[in-house]
Amino acid sequence: MNIIIYKTLKALINRTSIGLYLIFVLLICGNTSFAQNNSYSLKTVVIDAGHGGKDPGALGKSCREKDIVLNISLKLGGYIEKYFPDINVIYTRKTDVFIPLKRRSEIANQNKADLFISIHANANNNSKIIGTETYTLGLHKTKENLEVAMKENAVIEYEEDYSTKYEGFDPKNPASYIIFNMMQGVNRDKSISLAELTEHQFKTRVGRHSRGVREAGFWVLKQVSMPSILVEVGFVSNPTEEKYLKTKQGQDYLASAIFRAFRDYKNKVEQSSVLLSKKELINKTEEVSDSIPSNIIETTIANSSILEYCVQLKSSSKKIPLTSRVFKNIPNVKERKVNNTYKYTVGSTSNYQKIVEVQKAIRKKIKDCFVVAFYNGKRISLSKAKKLKKT
Ligand SMILES: [Zn+2]
Repeated sequence: MNIIIYKTLKALINRTSIGLYLIFVLLICGNTSFAQNNSYSLKTVVIDAGHGGKDPGALGKSCREKDIVLNISLKLGGYIEKYFPDINVIYTRKTDVFIPLKRRSEIANQNKADLFISIHANANNNSKIIGTETYTLGLHKTKENLEVAMKENAVIEYEEDYSTKYEGFDPKNPASYIIFNMMQGVNRDKSISLAELTEHQFKTRVGRHSRGVREAGFWVLKQVSMPSILVEVGFVSNPTEEKYLKTKQGQDYLASAIFRAFRDYKNKVEQSSVLLSKKELINKTEEVSDSIPSNIIETTIANSSILEYCVQLKSSSKKIPLTSRVFKNIPNVKERKVNNTYKYTVGSTSNYQKIVEVQKAIRKKIKDCFVVAFYNGKRISLSKAKKLKKT
């Protein structure tokens, strides 16, 4: 048999086999290494304890926001390091130091973090207000949310020449906040998902009063290029909540609630990415086994004085152009005239198993194709061909 015919057929069969094999492995093994290699995993998280050093943050009667949020941040990071040792935990600060707002987002961006969690505590003139809030970046829907963002953004006033550094952004002017209207990018859904999980944990596992997931224009969230949230763990302006926030147990519970939300978020995004890569893999696999590239099927049988199996696509009393749509773009279709009938075939091999593989591939395009046999160029029955093969 012509060596080119053999090689091209072998290539087709190999491609088809690879496609079938990949589907098989995928169905049998579920989480294949291929799928995992292509899937997303959360590798780096930046934990940002708000304020620090000369900036105390919100002040309670006997506590400072900067101390509470540092403790919670360190505990949260500790949990992640303990339960997910492969994750790189980066802190914007681990001690009582002042970190410019810009530097916080730079740390996250430079380390190519997958997630940014900023931790703060709230204060309000109304000392009756209590509860947790988790923010994602967006345009505030209420004056109340705007005020929280204004208060947190005002930390830039501790920095010299902040107007230049922050491109004229005035944290106390509501008009400055219009820029956040445009800030609903690719990370929005993920950020909201983590925010929801966080508030859910606060409410159900720690028994805090959840004031819900909110959106507002936080400068630090605007600058980071990954999913991000800003958590307000409670109001230091409320005496009961202040007391809770100051205790080791309160800080522990809040940190573990954020940790559980982090864990659930991680599982969620990683799982959906595995599912996605499986879907992509199946699509790719279908592409591989479905496409029948030209030059793969060689049908020249001019020199054949041998037993030859082919796949018959069509049979017609009238000639059909090889470029016709009925051949579904299958390359190298061969026309044969047998008596007064035109028969259109692809493939050429003396190996019956191999032509069956070719038929399987072609069936994705032409369902009723079937295997035919020729001997010395003449059509013979498959049973006769099998007997010939034995002799
Ligand atoms: Zn704060």
